[in-house]
Amino acid sequence: MKRNEGDVKCVKPKKLKSINKAMWGYFCLFAVLLILFVEIIFCIIVAVNLEGQARAKVAYVGAGMERELRTNPANFNKSIIAARREGFNVVLMTLDGRVCAPLNYDEQQTAYDEIVKILGDAPVGNAITYRSGNLICYASKIEAMNNGYYLHVTYSVTVVAQTVGSLQFYLVVVGVILVLFAFCVSYLFSRRLTDGLHTLSDTAVKLAKGDYTVQFTNADYKELANLSSSLNNVRDEVKKSEDFQHEILANVTHDLKTPLTMIKAYASMIKEISGDDKEKREKHLQVIIDEADRLTGLVNDVLNVSKLQANMFELNFTVFNLTDLIYNIINKFGYLQETQGYNFMVDIDADIYTRADEEKISQVLYNLLGNAANYTGKDKTVYICLKTSLDGTRVRFSVRDTGKGISQETLPEIWNRYYRAGDTHSRPVKGTGLGLNIVKVILETHSFDFGVESEVGKGSLFWVDFPAVSSEI
Ligand code: ADP
Repeated sequence: MKRNEGDVKCVKPKKLKSINKAMWGYFCLFAVLLILFVEIIFCIIVAVNLEGQARAKVAYVGAGMERELRTNPANFNKSIIAARREGFNVVLMTLDGRVCAPLNYDEQQTAYDEIVKILGDAPVGNAITYRSGNLICYASKIEAMNNGYYLHVTYSVTVVAQTVGSLQFYLVVVGVILVLFAFCVSYLFSRRLTDGLHTLSDTAVKLAKGDYTVQFTNADYKELANLSSSLNNVRDEVKKSEDFQHEILANVTHDLKTPLTMIKAYASMIKEISGDDKEKREKHLQVIIDEADRLTGLVNDVLNVSKLQANMFELNFTVFNLTDLIYNIINKFGYLQETQGYNFMVDIDADIYTRADEEKISQVLYNLLGNAANYTGKDKTVYICLKTSLDGTRVRFSVRDTGKGISQETLPEIWNRYYRAGDTHSRPVKGTGLGLNIVKVILETHSFDFGVESEVGKGSLFWVDFPAVSSEI
């Protein structure tokens, strides 16, 4: 059956492995492989080494016997007996197979056949060391006392083979003990590690249920200690965020309540008292309009902040005329100039273009100009400036007022949400404490530099650096 786009896919939940079991399993497997590897290597090294040593010994004894035969033939039989005591079997034969010493040698024929096969065609003076079954042999064709001889020395490695065999046995026993040990150690180790994780997970469950007093602790392992400290940070942040949400709710409720009470009060006054008195009615209606505007402003700010917080803002970069935008925004404050005697002094370079999200920047400029007008001094003057930097890459917008200014301690705080300093407003318009936070988030999203300089009693200057671009594309 063909699947439609809207069909819900049934995804089988993946069977999750337990870290404890996985670690235990891997650790054991690793231990078994390691022990096997070590045993194999050990056995090979031991076997190869022991055989090498036996070969060297046989060759050494053989060479000694040759020397003895050439230099002290009368003592040769004694040397044979001495060598036999050390486990070496020596026989000296003529080139046609007659045993010269020792006279009671039983395996003359076998030894002779072997020597002839190996050294038959070789010139006198040749010697060879080889293995035949459990024997390490040394055969040489030599000349002594004006005659040619075969010298054959053998050494049995049965003992060596037995040693290697028993070593292997003991290694297997040790290996099994080690594997059992590894099983126990890995079990304990994985338990210890996962116990830490279980504790963290139990604490996280408590946190999820809203217990912010929980403490994530694990000092046994560095990674778990790091995880604990990150979780403690998360706890603090979640707590802060929750406290913050309560605070926002309290602030917003309070901010909504005041204008609503005013609107209701003035509407009642119009209904009951000033309905027929045009002048009073107009005044009361104006209060209602102002308060409704304040409500709209507050709702818009809250909406913007939550959008910014949820990262719902996608920047729509365009190149636009910043000079025009600033004049447009100043015009929006025209009513202040006309009705309340405000002055907007401008020093703005003509036709400056920048690249940014025009709508968001317009909000930034609006908030900054609005604040300057709200907080400026008795002269009701606001200075607006737009100047290109000397190298022509940046353009600085600044807005200055002549109000009470902001103290150095509170300067960093003004960008925080819902921060409001005491009563520094010159206009009877109450703010929401959201405007500068919106400015900050928008400018940070653009990665533009911005800041504020302020002196108590003299006023404040807010500035933003925009990238300067040549002209509209
Ligand atoms: P509000 O709506 O209260 O103006 P803002 O976020 O715009 O909120 O500003 C936060 C606080 O920063 C204000 O309450 C005020 O104390 C201070 N502030 C902002 N602009 C100025 C300014 N131009 N002069 C003095 N103080 C200011």
